[in-house]
Amino acid sequence: MDNRAGHPAESGVPAEAMGGDAAPPVAGDFRTMGLSAETLAAVDRAGYTTPTPVQAGLIPRAIKGIDVLGQARTGTGKTASFVLPILERMHQPGRGGGPRALVLVPTRELAVQVKDEFEKLAFGSKIHCVAVYGGKPIKGQIDKLAKNPAVIVGTPGRVLDHMSRGTLNFSAIEIVTLDEADRMLDIGFRPDIEKILRRCPESRQTLLLSATVPPPVQKLATRYMRDPEIMDFSVNELAVETIEQRYFTVDPTRKFDLLERLLDREQPRQVIVFCRTKRGTDKIFEKLQRRRSRQTRSDAEDVACIHGDLSQSIRDRVMKQFREGSVKVLVATDVVGRGIDVSSVSHIVNYDIPEFCDDYVHRVGRTGRMGREGIAFTFVSPEEGPQLTRIEIRIERLLKRDEIEGFEAFDRRPKPAPVEHVPTGGFQRAAAAAAASPTEEPPAAEQPKRPPSSLGKGRGPKRHRRAL
Ligand code: ADP
Ligand code: MG
Repeated sequence: MDNRAGHPAESGVPAEAMGGDAAPPVAGDFRTMGLSAETLAAVDRAGYTTPTPVQAGLIPRAIKGIDVLGQARTGTGKTASFVLPILERMHQPGRGGGPRALVLVPTRELAVQVKDEFEKLAFGSKIHCVAVYGGKPIKGQIDKLAKNPAVIVGTPGRVLDHMSRGTLNFSAIEIVTLDEADRMLDIGFRPDIEKILRRCPESRQTLLLSATVPPPVQKLATRYMRDPEIMDFSVNELAVETIEQRYFTVDPTRKFDLLERLLDREQPRQVIVFCRTKRGTDKIFEKLQRRRSRQTRSDAEDVACIHGDLSQSIRDRVMKQFREGSVKVLVATDVVGRGIDVSSVSHIVNYDIPEFCDDYVHRVGRTGRMGREGIAFTFVSPEEGPQLTRIEIRIERLLKRDEIEGFEAFDRRPKPAPVEHVPTGGFQRAAAAAAASPTEEPPAAEQPKRPPSSLGKGRGPKRHRRAL
């Protein structure tokens, strides 16, 4: 993998940063990418006027048949960057004998979403796409597969299931896409993915999309891609850079009250409230729904919840209602923390701080889609200070403390030492920050984003090093 393309700007690719501040905007053009008139019409119909940097980088290469590994944050248009080249190829005659394109995704929700993007962009053509994922009766999918669709989108487990039943045959596959490869490996799909890839013709083209490229993703690329061109669109740009992020320090027993007050204050257009467990998600949902029906004297149908224990049809329905906007408050586990794109989400609340830093990045990336404004709040209890610190290191940025009167979690503590002298990370930091006077760190005022280098000054580095 020594043919590294590096930053897109170096490889002559328009590098307008979407909402980022890395490069001056350079308008790309779908018309100069080698797309057919038919595909261009579809792009037009979808309302896409300018390609995102990922699309400008990936599409021309993918169309040439080159294997590409694209690394980019969420919300940068990765889906169309592989859907369009696939459609372009499907316009050419195939050899027959089975599906010609396969897209592997980590979750059911994402399978549906990618299929929707296919249908949107393939509108008017005869190219059919079928989504296969667990949780739905296999029979209906078998019937759809029997109609010989050109494109299959699926989760690795279910795809493998169909493969072993003989209802899916990969001998005519021309192009394989691994979407959210990092996530698929995280959740243990490696053996399934490898089995599937080994069954696809060696002559196929492989595209791999990922928000991060840790060694396991690199290994997969080395083993299963042919001289992949690596395009890194994430340079200096973590998923959440453009999103305003704040935290509240709060006693765990008062989190729900704080949530109520926060929702009242913020009046979000659409909000996702992330909880760590399925039971917690149910509990918060029920409480919110009761509160909402009291307020509106109705059934509070604009509050919903989603997690892995709900049946697939309920999950599908909730996602649909959320996408349409009839659900305004969605209480969720990390099931929806990845990849799901609902562009009108204005607020994220991490009711429970995420266990893994990457989950933080993905949760927060559910807002601020396509350069829209978004804001994320994280509730932090005293013992969760170190987790907050780890997140700050991961995103190379300090979160702002926010405050709602009456919720100063640690106001019973003695007046803190100046923040510079906070001895270690974690709890002490959270406590000190909580008790520090608001004038020192004004909750609502704009605070300039601290560049990574600022972590090398003042209270940052010591705290961070010790916290690890
Ligand atoms: P990612 O997979 O990188 O997280 P998505 O493919 O889900 O991002 O795209 C995010 C949103 O941007 C979707 O709503 C999609 O319809 C929209 N989108 C994609 N490409 C463009 C474009 N060129 N112009 C405008 N909107 C776009
Ligand atoms: Mg995606």
